[in-house]
Amino acid sequence: MSVLTDTFTIAGDVAIPKIGFGTWQIPDGSDAYDAVRAALDAGYRHIDTALAYGNEASVGRAVRDSGIDRDELFITTKLPAEIKDAEGARAAFDRSQRGLDLGVVDLYLIHAPWPWTAIGSDHTAGNIEVWKVFEELYAAGRTRSIGVSNFSVDDLEALTAATDVVPHANQIRWFVGNTQPDVTAWCQQHGVLVEGYSPLATGELLDAGTLDDIAERVGRTPAQVAIRSLLEKGVLPLPKSVTPKRIAENAQVDFTLDADTVARLDAL
Ligand code: NDP
Repeated sequence: MSVLTDTFTIAGDVAIPKIGFGTWQIPDGSDAYDAVRAALDAGYRHIDTALAYGNEASVGRAVRDSGIDRDELFITTKLPAEIKDAEGARAAFDRSQRGLDLGVVDLYLIHAPWPWTAIGSDHTAGNIEVWKVFEELYAAGRTRSIGVSNFSVDDLEALTAATDVVPHANQIRWFVGNTQPDVTAWCQQHGVLVEGYSPLATGELLDAGTLDDIAERVGRTPAQVAIRSLLEKGVLPLPKSVTPKRIAENAQVDFTLDADTVARLDAL
């Protein structure tokens, strides 16, 4: 079975394909449309977007035009980090669902525990308030699973102490050299799937040549080693590219890294 169609399971029985295609910084219109079509052609079945990316309409159109059965596809979108009230959360979900026009959302995430203009500020009360809306949307079947993003252990503990549904996923910045051991361990102990965003460090990992030696040793490209390294830890990688050749390359990760190679990566 290919990594593209192999799945993790969240929310009891929801299958989530083990690699997601990232769409941050891909402009709405032909850029996002073409990238998502290329990803679907290359076999990706999981697309990650957000209201804040401004490209949900093109993502949705590319998915519809692909002709692939909706139930073979997994679509994640996110509540903007700045929205911390129930009314705003309901309106934003409606907007995303209309923008995507793909029916039920597969995974809906709180984009971050704090607004991007105030990283690290405390919004526990607001996160609890919007999470209760997420619980309603999940109970009503408008999204098949719900989760968070950029949540620390403290953020997760504060949220789960005050609400009923433990997040099904936490999407965090995760790549070789930035493996977030504390929050990853907390999530894995509590049954929260860790999704790794920026698995190529937004390209910096490749520009720096950090993985060139290891990649040569295992006969794969640096990007493939970087992406595979997440899977070796049970973390779901979300690589992004607008380049069809790279989109395909990043999906060819049906290999394993031996313990020695994983140890070398851990040491970086
Ligand atoms: P990645 O870490 O996936 O890196 C993307 C960059 O690497 C692009 O510049 C791309 O170039 C380049 N690249 C991709 N593949 C290759 C390759 N095989 N060889 C050489 N260069 C390559 O980027 P992102 O930071 O975008 O993270 C991925 C996704 O994670 C996002 O798109 C988004 O969906 C999610 N994310 C979520 C966040 C959150 O707060 N929840 C925050 C950030 C990201 P090019 O496109 O030109 O080919």
